[in-house]
Amino acid sequence: MAGLPFTDTPKFTPYWWDHVPRPSLPQTDPPARADVVVIGAGYTGLCAALQTARGGRATVVLDAEDAGWGCSTRNGGQISTSVKPDYVELSRRHGPELAFRILKEGQDSLTWVADFVSSEGIECDFRVVGRFHAAHSQARYEALARSIALQPRGLEVEAHVVPRAEQRTELGTDAYFGGVVFTRHAAIDPGRFHQGILERAISAGARVITHCAATAIQRVAGGFQVRTERGTIAARNVVVATNGYTGALTPWLRRRVIPIGSYVIATEPVPGEMMARLMPRGRIVSDTRKVVYYYRPSPDGTRILFGGRVSHGETDPKVSGPRLHAEMVRLFPELAATRISHSWCGFVAYTFDNLAHAGEQDGLFHAMGYCGSGVGMAGYLGTRIGQQVLGRKEGETAFGEIQFQTRPFYSGNPWFLAPSVMYYRWRDQRG
Ligand SMILES: Cc1cc2nc3c(=O)[nH]c(=O)nc-3n(C[C@H](O)[C@H](O)[C@H](O)COP(=O)(O)OP(=O)(O)OC[C@H]3O[C@@H](n4cnc5c(N)ncnc54)[C@H](O)[C@@H]3O)c2cc1C
Repeated sequence: MAGLPFTDTPKFTPYWWDHVPRPSLPQTDPPARADVVVIGAGYTGLCAALQTARGGRATVVLDAEDAGWGCSTRNGGQISTSVKPDYVELSRRHGPELAFRILKEGQDSLTWVADFVSSEGIECDFRVVGRFHAAHSQARYEALARSIALQPRGLEVEAHVVPRAEQRTELGTDAYFGGVVFTRHAAIDPGRFHQGILERAISAGARVITHCAATAIQRVAGGFQVRTERGTIAARNVVVATNGYTGALTPWLRRRVIPIGSYVIATEPVPGEMMARLMPRGRIVSDTRKVVYYYRPSPDGTRILFGGRVSHGETDPKVSGPRLHAEMVRLFPELAATRISHSWCGFVAYTFDNLAHAGEQDGLFHAMGYCGSGVGMAGYLGTRIGQQVLGRKEGETAFGEIQFQTRPFYSGNPWFLAPSVMYYRWRDQRG
């Protein structure tokens, strides 16, 4: 497939996979027993496994595809504090004390990534570049500026307002109404980050078995029987780490997460002086729309990775690519002749309360529902869940104290998605 806006040889796989090819692990059959079976080999599952393996538990990680095939090697590599509702909203729902702890853990998840990649020596282009959060209307700019001026005590984050007149110091566009810079937010190469965690989990003794879906989980005396495509494992504990790919295996969880496609393109290399004009500070960028666009320079600073949602229902990266390109050009007309080298997508997991959840239900541990912001939070909560399996106090998390809600008649198929996207797009247009 070629032709504008694609290059002559576009790829419909993540840009990250060019540098970190899909890991090929030896094809082994699962053992008859294990202390812990983790289902899903993304950030959540591998970080849980790292804890349990280092804690001396015989740990098996299963993935239906390659390790990291899900969101963990498809994302935009933007790291924030990962909690969407604000303090006022969370206090209304859960009271000020729990609201405070939820938001504090959001901040901790950002610190956790920095400490983790440094203490584990994972080379993954982790950089504290800061985020420019751009206002798509004057009203949003004013609301953003107010929220920065009135941050709850004890939860203050480093941030400064950038008015529209100064916007070009941050971004080469006049399409926004100014914005806010969150100086501590960071960028990472998600593929290299995942590879680093995978290597450490394997070194710690976890057995990672890929192309081997778990097909049934049955409760038995002393634990569980996990049936897989290649045999059954008797396990004392099971961790479900399937996030946006949660399926019929775990109906209780499936009724609580809403899988939503997110789409990204990478451009061909952009001339250096144009990159310097468009993204002079090399920050990660997002905007205030409900149907958000997020973008950043590639770690080597030569390309733009531009993501978001450009259809009401799910679509094909061959279709989403040109639409994302059109949105990118609307913001940066200079990029009209710059072609797309990669276009891909993945499924994030939203929840009915816009919060991640981690804990234990019917004896099964889980952490999921990162609402599109899981690069930091998935590893952080995966670690907490691994500690919970070990019975350690440090595994406690505020995200385990919130009821994991579902809705009547929802069984895992988000029939309401297309109308919601239409509604939010309409609201975004009104500012
Ligand atoms: C396009 C895109 C862009 C994103 N950008 C960002 C971003 O910039 N910043 C941010 O913070 N977050 C971002 N995210 C979200 C983030 O990537 C995820 O929240 C995070 O990677 C979730 O990790 P996980 O390990 O929980 O799930 P995943 O990495 O999705 O792993 C789940 C795994 O479970 C496996 N699985 C499912 N069912 C079974 C079964 N029955 N048996 C065995 N295995 C099974 C799947 O094969 C999959 O590999 C983005 C996501 C996407 C798709």
